Amino acid sequence: MTDPGVTRRFARAVVTGGAGFVGAHLCELLLEEDIEVIAVDNLVTSSADTLDHLRRHERFRFVRHDVTQPMPPDLAADVVFHLASAASPRDYLALPIETLRAGSHGTENALELARRARARFVLASTSEVYGDPLEHPQREGYWGNVNPIGPRSVYDEAKRYGEAMTSAYRREHGTDTAIARIFNTYGPGMRAHDGRMIPAFLDQALKNEPITVTGTGEQTRSICYVEDTVRGLLALARSGHPGPVNIGNPYELTVRQVAERIKDITGSASPIVSVDAVVDDPQRRCPDITLARDALGWEPKIDADDGLRRTAAWFRRAPSR
Ligand code: NAD
Repeated sequence: MTDPGVTRRFARAVVTGGAGFVGAHLCELLLEEDIEVIAVDNLVTSSADTLDHLRRHERFRFVRHDVTQPMPPDLAADVVFHLASAASPRDYLALPIETLRAGSHGTENALELARRARARFVLASTSEVYGDPLEHPQREGYWGNVNPIGPRSVYDEAKRYGEAMTSAYRREHGTDTAIARIFNTYGPGMRAHDGRMIPAFLDQALKNEPITVTGTGEQTRSICYVEDTVRGLLALARSGHPGPVNIGNPYELTVRQVAERIKDITGSASPIVSVDAVVDDPQRRCPDITLARDALGWEPKIDADDGLRRTAAWFRRAPSR
């Protein structure tokens, strides 16, 4: 294990979940940074089309593989980003056991690759490990308030297990690990019908259909533009910090305010309507990013209006919407 604070240089990255929304943006950033990229994905919640624009890079390779199975023995890298997991509520509620396996067997297999290759390892964990938090804003030292048997637990507990396995590899094998706790991230490339708030609101607004806010709409979210998130993941990889480190935008909005911003930005005629609350929906979500600022020199740069405008522009053009 090396000291925190060291800036690492990488020649080749493996990105599990590389065909997904965050993964594809991360692959793009790594290629821009002259790092060779191998995206590993079984396409369970994504499509290979996401990677069309990356295939022209000669330093990019796609490997179709389920991370719950041992990694192909010929894979080698000096950094492994482990993002493979269903991530939207619609996906993980439809794939509960697959999600638990991706977080457990999948994380262990990705860690094993990093151990074998003596690579830096970055786990894409989530703010969901804080559950419905009793502390606000959430700092990394907070242990969370998660219902272990509710429907969302398949995702939250898989990520908590993934964090525990990552920490065990660090202690037992000296693997150079890091844990990123990613907060709500949005941007171009999201699927309109994946059940997440921003693509759902944008899709409804652009079709002038009612924008459906769950529950009171007073629950808060802190939304981070995807370019900022992937810069944060790379900054964490390059640091020697083990984490966990919150990667998110501390600018907090109520869900209703997000709906109103999207309605304004798109010039939509949609009414904003309330629908049933979601089971175990967190009421407040806001990262404390002091650690990321101090240890990684990272903070988000793109504000919500700018990010939502860019995302709305992409959704207007997206052929599959
Ligand atoms: P996504 O669904 O767009 O991408 C996930 C990718 O993982 C998909 O391409 C899917 O096919 C792949 N995958 C799932 N199970 C797999 C398996 N067993 N083997 C191989 N590939 C598999 O989700 P996303 O928003 O890009 O999220 C990426 C990661 O970031 C996830 O680990 C998620 O938990 C984490 N994260 C995302 C957010 C967010 O707001 N987007 C917030 C917190 C954490």
